[in-house]
Amino acid sequence: MTSHATPRMPSASTSVETPTDPTGTPVGPPNAPSVRSGSAAASAHSTPTDCPLCAGDGGRVIWRDAILRVVQIDDADYPGFCRIIWNAHIAELSDLPVADRERLLSVLVEVEQVVRAQMQCDKINLASFGNMVPHLHWHVIPRFHDDAHFPQAIWAARERDVAPASQAARVERARGLADALSFALRLVLSRNSGDNAADDEVS
Ligand SMILES: [Zn+2]
Repeated sequence: MTSHATPRMPSASTSVETPTDPTGTPVGPPNAPSVRSGSAAASAHSTPTDCPLCAGDGGRVIWRDAILRVVQIDDADYPGFCRIIWNAHIAELSDLPVADRERLLSVLVEVEQVVRAQMQCDKINLASFGNMVPHLHWHVIPRFHDDAHFPQAIWAARERDVAPASQAARVERARGLADALSFALRLVLSRNSGDNAADDEVS
């Protein structure tokens, strides 16, 4: 990593002792087998007392209700980087009841759409690992043809620095993301659930 490359970790990582990425983001060499290996490592954080995503939010909270939250990640290379985190300990998508899967996926699609529109990116990358924490979570990453790792994954070897003017424009767009997302999610979740999700919003 170069000096200005912020580790791709949520802010919660600063308040926990574990040296690993608390969201399970692969931090090893690019394409390391461990990146996509099974979820056995999830048992490393099996109780709320030692789980960084129970102890902290895992990023700046844009939206939260009883079952999930959407956070924005402070990543110098990737302004607009968001994560959707299931609040409870559920390791696999297929462990969720059907209604919960649909709720999670509806949020995922909504976040993708809003990030795409707000960031005016060339591509969206979606990723779900969860090898280090037993919380289902999705990374939603706006990608640009000239970003630091394109066309490789953001966890691969760095390819380049982004022109300062381009990066500044992206940082500026990312500033509007929280408002755009919280507005969109309030609409979609209220519509889908018919409950008082909108009242649970945290902005
Ligand atoms: Zn937890």
